[in-house]
Amino acid sequence: MSITENVAKLLAKVPAGVRIVAAAKGQNAAAVDEALRAGLSIVGENYLQEAEAARSEVDRPAEWHFIGHLQSNKVKKAVELFDMTETVDSVHLAAELEKRCEQAGKVMPVLIEVNSGREANKSGVLPEEAAALVREIAERFARVRVTGLMTMGPLTGDPADLRECFRETRRLFEELRRDAVPGAAMRELSMGMSGSWEAGIEEGATLVRIGTRIFGPRI
Ligand SMILES: *Cc1c(COP(=O)(O)O)cnc(C)c1O
Repeated sequence: MSITENVAKLLAKVPAGVRIVAAAKGQNAAAVDEALRAGLSIVGENYLQEAEAARSEVDRPAEWHFIGHLQSNKVKKAVELFDMTETVDSVHLAAELEKRCEQAGKVMPVLIEVNSGREANKSGVLPEEAAALVREIAERFARVRVTGLMTMGPLTGDPADLRECFRETRRLFEELRRDAVPGAAMRELSMGMSGSWEAGIEEGATLVRIGTRIFGPRI
């Protein structure tokens, strides 16, 4: 199956109000371009170097999301390259983003990454700490705009456990939305990948990050 066919099949199944992020790690610019030509509008990148190469070669309009682990010393570059950062999990990182956005005259919408599986050595803030982080970032920073939550969930194991992780993230998302935290706008919930996008959507995702199901296995 070609990228074009894969995208067409996904677009036919994804309901209105849910957008697909083409998770492009390990793919070249031609592949990214084909996915956009087939009808996608968001590219997700994990690595700054790959993103820089792809952005310089792909001229089709798109929104670029950073979905990898962001180190503080790479934030300046990330601010140049991306329209959204989906993986903010600390005040420290948000402060660095704020500083670089101010220098660049930009605003960066961000999602707070939740470690919904409570896995050791995993990125993301623990579910019980997410609300406080959202509030602190929303209160302290003008250019870092909290617009929702993102979660990966455990990558192996029982699909029922993954679904429970999605559910808990959704509950958090709804609570924060109800609380109407000043300075934050809970609009996006990013959860679900190639093997779990349907579960993600059933549990309330507005963004699903799909790689191999679009591009085939990574090289
Ligand atoms: C690679 C990646 C994806 C997509 O994974 P697939 O299983 O290939 O769909 C989604 N989210 C993040 C954060 C990723 O790194």
